[in-house]
Formats: sequence, C-alpha cells, structure tokens
Amino acid sequence: MLKIFYHEALGGWQAPEIVPFENLVLHPASKVLHYAIQLFEGLKAFRGVDGKIRMFRPDMNMSRMNSSAMRLGLPTFSGEELVKCCNRLIGIDQEWVPHSTASSLYLRPTMIGIDPTLGVASSESALLYVILSPVGSYFKASEAKDGVSLLADPRYTRAWPGGCGNYKVGSNYGPTIYVQREAVERGLQQVLWLYGEDDEVTEAGTMNIFMFCINDDGEKELITPPLTSSLILPGVTRDSILGLAREWNQFKVTERKFCMSEVCHLLSENRLLELFGAGTACIVSPVSYVEYAGRSLHIPTMTHSNPVYKMFLNRLTDIQYGVVPDHPWMITI
Ligand code: PMP
Repeated sequence: MLKIFYHEALGGWQAPEIVPFENLVLHPASKVLHYAIQLFEGLKAFRGVDGKIRMFRPDMNMSRMNSSAMRLGLPTFSGEELVKCCNRLIGIDQEWVPHSTASSLYLRPTMIGIDPTLGVASSESALLYVILSPVGSYFKASEAKDGVSLLADPRYTRAWPGGCGNYKVGSNYGPTIYVQREAVERGLQQVLWLYGEDDEVTEAGTMNIFMFCINDDGEKELITPPLTSSLILPGVTRDSILGLAREWNQFKVTERKFCMSEVCHLLSENRLLELFGAGTACIVSPVSYVEYAGRSLHIPTMTHSNPVYKMFLNRLTDIQYGVVPDHPWMITI
C-alpha cells in the first residue's frame, strides 16, 4: 500500500512510502472517526490485450479528489505526483492485475483527517493512502443479462442543493445503507435517488444515470442530469459516455434535469428506449425495472437489438483493455 502523511507542523506533505499491506494505528480522537473527515476515489488498472497495464483517466480522479479535499478542509496535492506514486505501486504489485479482459485491479485512494483532537475544525494532519484489489464484474451475470431493478422512493434523498453530493466523501455513503437495504427487502437491487417536490431523477446506486428516448421532435436523445447543482457526482464514466456520444454524433446529447413524471410519460408513449447507470465499478448497467410510488415501471432497455448502453460498454472496454490502441484516456504504467 502507498502511504503519504501530511503534517502542517512539519511543512506539509511528507515523503511517500510503499509498504506491505498493514493495519492503520489511529488515536481514538482522530477527526476521521468522529466527524467523517474522509474522502475517497475509485479507479481501475487494466491488463490490455497487448500485455501492457494501463489506468483509465486517473487525472479525472485526482482532480475530483482534490475538490473533495478542499470541501473537507483537507490538504490538496499534485494529482500528477499521486498518479506517479500509483504507477509505482501498481508496478510493484503488477501480478495482482488480472490476466483477463473480464477483470481489473481496483485502486482505492483515500484521505483521512488524523488530528487527535475533538474540536470540529480542519485537520492539521492527514493520511493519504492507496490500497488495491483485483475485481471481477460488479454485477452478477443475471443482472447483466436481465438488467437491474431500482427502488425510487421519494421519501429518501442522497444529496441536496448546497450539500456535498458532488464530492466523493465517505459521509455521503453511510446513510445510503439503510435505503439500499430497504430496496433489497422489497426484492429490488439498487436505489434510484430522487430529489425535490417534482421527484427529479439524480443518480442510481453509486452510478450516474442516463435516459435514452425519442423526444417531442421525434429525435433520439441521450439525457443525463447536469453538474450545475450539488446533486450529482461528476463521474468519470459519465464524462466518458458524453464524450463518446458527442464524438459519434448519432443522436442528440443533452445534460438537463428530468423528473419521474417525464420518465412515466415517455414510457406510456413507448418513447423511453433505455435507462442505464454508469460508473467505474460496472461501467454501464442497464435498468429494466423501476418501482415508483406504488407503480411498476417496466423499462424496455434489454429489448432492443443494438442498444446504446451496449455500444458505450463495448467501446469503453475496448479502450480500457487496449483493443483501441494508444487511446489518450489510457495511461500506461
Ligand atoms: N455517483 C456516485 C454517487 C458514485 O459513488 C459514483 C462512483 N464513483 C458515480 C456516480 C460514478 O462515478 P465514476 O464514473 O467516476 O465511477
């Protein structure tokens, strides 16, 4: 694992070290344990079809990590330097990068405030560390084949204007466990997060959400909520899908708010074609069912012969596993 301490009293960031995986020793008053002064990232390294190991867009994770650090009063850092440290870590642990195009190595950069004082104040010391784990595909084979089912319950929300939904901080995730468990108890797999009086659609589980539909002008349109409020995490996969869609220029691409009433309306007119989530873990995850306010919404995502979710999934995996050679999004270790 990679460890980098920050001590304001010692001039800031200390020398990075790579050490055998070990437990952390923390003072019981450490700020992270009381006020959740914690942020994290998630990104992957892939063994390409040519045998080379590459990370996918790590610069995006570094800048998101720095924006989370700023929001928590934690120290910021050079993203380029941390990418170099991750390169070295992966280089040492390279046999943990699966020899398979169905799996990858997950990196979990984390930063915690470790001042041993109970004051609710910014932490003058911090630990940035990176741990690794090989991962397979996030969803079970049945979920990839049949699509995922979502619980959309307006009683719960994940984020709100002025809040922290647009930062990747641990305190956003703890309170979702209860709602996720409720979804599972009702036989559903994930939560579709809504916000506000008009049941605005924001995210699905730990994924950004996309809707592909036929709009009022009869055109095909890909829609995802905008990053203009603090409701949406700026996902790296989201950004990549928007980038590919705009490059392909085969349908209209829009970042705008949409609500459950629009989802229901489009569905009733057979104009809702696909709904899918997007994130590092699963890349693209098709949605086949939503339970909303006592209504069962059957989404036809899985019924098309050449769905767009699959086009994104195929293109992104081809980029990640080096089938597309030398793609600028891939950083070779
Ligand atoms: N939304 C939330 C709440 C998430 O936790 C994640 C996972 N980081 C995403 C969206 C997707 O982001 P990314 O594509 O960067 O993994």
